[in-house]
Amino acid sequence: LTHFPYKHVLVLGLAKSGEAAARLLHQSGVQVRINDQKPFTENPKAQSLQELGMEVITGGHPPSVLDDIEYVVKNPGIPYSNPIVDEALKRRIPVVTEVELAYMLHEGNLVGITGSNGKTTTTTLVYEMLKASQSPAALAGNIGNVSCEVAQDTTNEETMVLELSSFQLLGTETFRPHVGIFLNLYEAHLDYHGTMDDYGQAKAKLFANQSEQDYLIYNQDQEDVVNLIQHASSVLVPFSKQERLIEEGIWIDDSHLYYKDRSIIPLQNIKLAGQHNLENIMASVGAALLSGGTISGIRQVLQTFTGVKHRMQFVKEVNKRRFYNDSKATNILATKNALEAFSSPTILLAGGLDRGNDLEDLTPYLKHVKAMVLFGETATKFEQLAKDNGIDTHIMVDNVKQAAEEAYHLSAPGDVILLSPACASWDQYRTFEERGDMFMDAVHTLK
Ligand code: ADP
Repeated sequence: LTHFPYKHVLVLGLAKSGEAAARLLHQSGVQVRINDQKPFTENPKAQSLQELGMEVITGGHPPSVLDDIEYVVKNPGIPYSNPIVDEALKRRIPVVTEVELAYMLHEGNLVGITGSNGKTTTTTLVYEMLKASQSPAALAGNIGNVSCEVAQDTTNEETMVLELSSFQLLGTETFRPHVGIFLNLYEAHLDYHGTMDDYGQAKAKLFANQSEQDYLIYNQDQEDVVNLIQHASSVLVPFSKQERLIEEGIWIDDSHLYYKDRSIIPLQNIKLAGQHNLENIMASVGAALLSGGTISGIRQVLQTFTGVKHRMQFVKEVNKRRFYNDSKATNILATKNALEAFSSPTILLAGGLDRGNDLEDLTPYLKHVKAMVLFGETATKFEQLAKDNGIDTHIMVDNVKQAAEEAYHLSAPGDVILLSPACASWDQYRTFEERGDMFMDAVHTLK
């Protein structure tokens, strides 16, 4: 951090991103104070940071932590109602997330990706497309490493491809991506942001500092998104599944995907399944082309990329049955997306933590579902859903390993076997990754 103007900085929250920010600031000669609610003994990192010479205050948020402080770097998860954050803002002390530091540090191009859904997939696609085009790139954000840590190792030639949550964006001041992607806006995180309006405003920080030298790729098919981007000063690059954007954007017809008047790839050559993924693909094609990607690099990725792990990931074909792992589908919208992607007879593997959701919302999407294999707290609710929809084959199993095996027994050649649980995993697994891994291991051992 060469031109960082502040001498006394408070790092609020000592998780992975807080630690990275603290180390970076300390190395840059800034006096760092760290404050975390957890007691010192439960904070494994506190000791080592203190030994480096940082001041560490743990076990609460005494108001004195703000004494002499000129700048606050807060963990994205800490709400603005936190008393320290609140007081800092009252005193007009800037409060940012480490993404802001990453931006200050990285001198090359930056692609920033946000939206309610599809961030990880799109971020991965852009990164892979640049790599396949021999254009140097680094991957950062929720998806991989803490951005300000990644930014320390990047060169001017590298494009930093950065996944951004609304929480991270809200804590930005000067952040300005050369290419921004605004995928979509669905109702989410309202416990944190309060209203849909505030949530939208947080996302809008993606392009708040952009100028006519920057590009904003956005979803033309979503009214909320279109309304928000009216205030952008950037070059607007819309994408749409409905309109022919020959003059200005990325679009599709029945046969091809286009960037303006240029055909990029026949749709049938795209490996990644799912209508929703077409949006992610259109956005990433735009971002890759605007940041040094080549058409052949882009094609290469689209012809081979089968999905980010646990997100509609094609696992394997076994005796003409195709297995998909969509363990990340922890809500009903995600499972709707997944079911819409297939027109072959489908065996749905679902169930998990019961959050009181209305499974009936899935009804219109069950047309191709011939059987259900169910597990976890919501298994009985899913059983009812199957009965209500005339799906006679529905069985209960103990876990996703058994689910894979039983689904295989029930299946016929040509079937899709889809793990898309529509529920969080915490009733039985530590994470959705653990659930997905167990499923994939079971698929790989099928005969
Ligand atoms: P995020 O990182 O934003 O959580 P992911 O790429 O991990 O997004 O995808 C998570 C889930 O969100 C997917 O399994 C899919 O069901 C859904 N999804 C992905 N992209 C989109 C999209 N463009 N529109 C709607 N839903 C999507």
